[in-house]
Amino acid sequence: MSRQRALVTGGAGFLGSHLCDALLSEGYSVLVLDNLLTGREANLHHLRREPHFEFKNVDINEPFDCGPVDYIFHFACPASPVDYMEHGIATLKVGSHGTFHALEMARKYKAKYLISSTSECYGDPLEHPQKESYWGHVNPIGPRSVYDESKRFAEALTMAYHRYHKVNTRIVRIFNTYGPRMQLNDGRVVPNFMKQAIRGEDLTVYGDGSQTRSFCYVSDEIDGFLKLAKSSEHNPVNIGNPNEFTILECAREVIKVTGSKSKIRYEPLPTDDPKQRQPDITKARKLLDWEPKIQLEEGLKLSLDYFRKAVSEE
Ligand code: UDP
Repeated sequence: MSRQRALVTGGAGFLGSHLCDALLSEGYSVLVLDNLLTGREANLHHLRREPHFEFKNVDINEPFDCGPVDYIFHFACPASPVDYMEHGIATLKVGSHGTFHALEMARKYKAKYLISSTSECYGDPLEHPQKESYWGHVNPIGPRSVYDESKRFAEALTMAYHRYHKVNTRIVRIFNTYGPRMQLNDGRVVPNFMKQAIRGEDLTVYGDGSQTRSFCYVSDEIDGFLKLAKSSEHNPVNIGNPNEFTILECAREVIKVTGSKSKIRYEPLPTDDPKQRQPDITKARKLLDWEPKIQLEEGLKLSLDYFRKAVSEE
């Protein structure tokens, strides 16, 4: 039987590149389209001699034709608050223009389609933990809106292509994920704390550190994507680790795992920073028989070599 062909938009990003590895091991041939705005070719360097892998530097906000494909994984989008606030217009464009173009390819080639969405669709949530049925509490004009509304629009567009054009779609709502290949300077909490702890600098906790996040290790997250990809669920599914930590607890965990002598320094809380975030994964458990296996301490230990090397190479 010939290999199935998968397109991964945004495949040079942190999650996209891990997804490429997983798809290649599943026997797909993989084409990545990425304009390298926030993704890095270095994330795909280990695949350069892989015969069933191809990378093209393409901006999917312009119309493109990837040729026949069986599956489209639409992952292109700046994803860290620092990145999407710097590239606000590009973030809105990839959620709208880029998503139109990816969906048109799925329609043309009758490909299955999965889009990476986000827990940011829930905004600063009033319901806790967040179920997929919660519609969210989002500031539509605040600094984070370029990402939140881009992803909410991308979800609406995906459901519309499913309803009007019968495209075989899936939507994954991703909660905070961490692991090797995260960019040291992308501003997210785990790379910031790991970098600071390894260098022996103060860990910068924003606000009083009582805001919460629930951290999923990358291999668990990818496993959830593959299970959703094989399912026939069209409505959004949360994939994340429900084990919730305050940011202060996360800082202490990083100090412990790195064996660092760093202290904590408090800095102002960014505008509209969500106070709490925890996925309700009842749906993923029932529908996909999926749940995360790696908890924060273990995941940080698994990431340590990568972050140490990245700091030493800076
Ligand atoms: N944060 C922090 N110090 C940092 C980076 C982030 O205290 O150096 C906080 C941030 O304010 C937020 C949480 O950690 O409350 C998670 O931030 P991140 O940027 O990783 O992702 P978010 O969940 O906000 O999209």
